[in-house]
Amino acid sequence: MEVLYNSTRSKQSPVKASEAILKGLSKDGGLFVPDKIPVFDKTFEELAEMTYGQVAYEVMKLYLTDFTEEELKGCIAKAYDSKFDTEEIAPITEAQGAYYLELFHGATIAFKDMALSILPHLLTTSAKKNHVKNEIVILTATSGDTGKAALAGFADVEGTRIVVFYPKNGVSPIQEKQMVTQKGNNTYVVGIHGNFDDAQTGVKQIFGDSNLAAYMEEKGFQFSSANSINIGRLVPQIVYYVYAYVKLLKEEKISSREQINVVVPTGNFGNILAAFYAKQMGLPVDKLICASNENKVLYDFFCSGTYDRNRDFVLTSSPSMDILISSNLERLIYRIAGNDPDKNKELMDALNQGGVYTITDEMKKHLSDFYGNYASEKETIEKIHELYDSTGYVIDTHTAVASCVYDKYKEETKDVKPAVIASTASPYKFTRSVMNAIDHKYDTMEDFELVDRLSEISKTEVPKAIEEIRTAPVLHNHVCEKSEMKQMVMNFLGI
Ligand SMILES: *Cc1c(COP(=O)(O)O)cnc(C)c1O
Repeated sequence: MEVLYNSTRSKQSPVKASEAILKGLSKDGGLFVPDKIPVFDKTFEELAEMTYGQVAYEVMKLYLTDFTEEELKGCIAKAYDSKFDTEEIAPITEAQGAYYLELFHGATIAFKDMALSILPHLLTTSAKKNHVKNEIVILTATSGDTGKAALAGFADVEGTRIVVFYPKNGVSPIQEKQMVTQKGNNTYVVGIHGNFDDAQTGVKQIFGDSNLAAYMEEKGFQFSSANSINIGRLVPQIVYYVYAYVKLLKEEKISSREQINVVVPTGNFGNILAAFYAKQMGLPVDKLICASNENKVLYDFFCSGTYDRNRDFVLTSSPSMDILISSNLERLIYRIAGNDPDKNKELMDALNQGGVYTITDEMKKHLSDFYGNYASEKETIEKIHELYDSTGYVIDTHTAVASCVYDKYKEETKDVKPAVIASTASPYKFTRSVMNAIDHKYDTMEDFELVDRLSEISKTEVPKAIEEIRTAPVLHNHVCEKSEMKQMVMNFLGI
């Protein structure tokens, strides 16, 4: 059954999956959404016998219906290979009765690798299928992890260039070092004076600039997006929820068709939306537990039905979740508005203009699959400490936010269903915060000394991604104002 993609903001004619991947964002500023949610054509018992790559194929083929079997399997094979430090790709660790689904075993040790190791291949395949001759310019705003994962994914991929903007003072030292040491002649990294939302807004403006698009076309370039608004990122993220479920089934941690809860540390709402799609497809998931840090716009939204970004932006120890505009929420809003693009557009316009919108009571009723809560900085730090003390398992700050919120959820609801917690970053990526949480005696140590100590106390090997940047030279030192972003892109392209 063919799945086509509609815009969330107008009733344009739907596009094929490969076209949606190429475009990233619809012309009207809307996001692409599948016109129907497919259902599994394999049983969970069948899927339980498969490798990660095989499960990926079974899930993705249902969404990317204009890809041939050979094309899709080719993309999957290039993505989920030895770039990951385990054949399982997404292993599960049990601690305090919860299942931590470790999504950080890829090239840049954060969950963005799950999708960004395959996106370049989906994109270049899509370009071929659609006879695109232009060079594709990936434009990305990052709160830290997307940037490096996208750079790693696209570096030296023929027919592509990549520009990454990050908030100069809004990412961890290791995140910054990972990005500014990126190799590849087609890569360009720029720090901006501003926060992540400024970077994301700037990128969206460049995307929406039709004069620029025409000029680019003339010069043989076209933009695409590696941000989580691209359907080519969303679809691969559905895979690991299915994989986690069938793995728990295979290991007899759950029984056939038993419901689980899923806990997701949330920023742009992409990861949890993928879990929502998995549930819509028929995966036995009960609650989708949306965990925020002190930038708790989503928690307030789930409580009140009002999304209000007019508030102070808090810099936290979980920077990849320091977000006040969760772009992917638009896909959920569109859905609970009865797939009505006009109603959705009205709300998104209100968000653009006044920074706030309120959904109707009718729409709010459709949010019952979700539970939202948040963790303060203090709670997050305490969780890392407490989990390490009681189990020896070390989690990063983002995962700790989720873990905290899960504790609150259990306390509040007494719901004891098995829970999968999305573990979105390696503790090695946020070594300083993690080690300080475990013991203040680490306060004065150098970053890489902390890395070695973390390896000792967690009894885990230092990931390759970290070893590599110990000595890597800085290759990018561009910094600009948020008003200069477009100029920076043009400079890089030499146009
Ligand atoms: C991106 C990211 C998140 C947030 O995921 P969204 O899909 O944006 O909600 C959480 N944790 C880490 C480590 C991330 O890199």
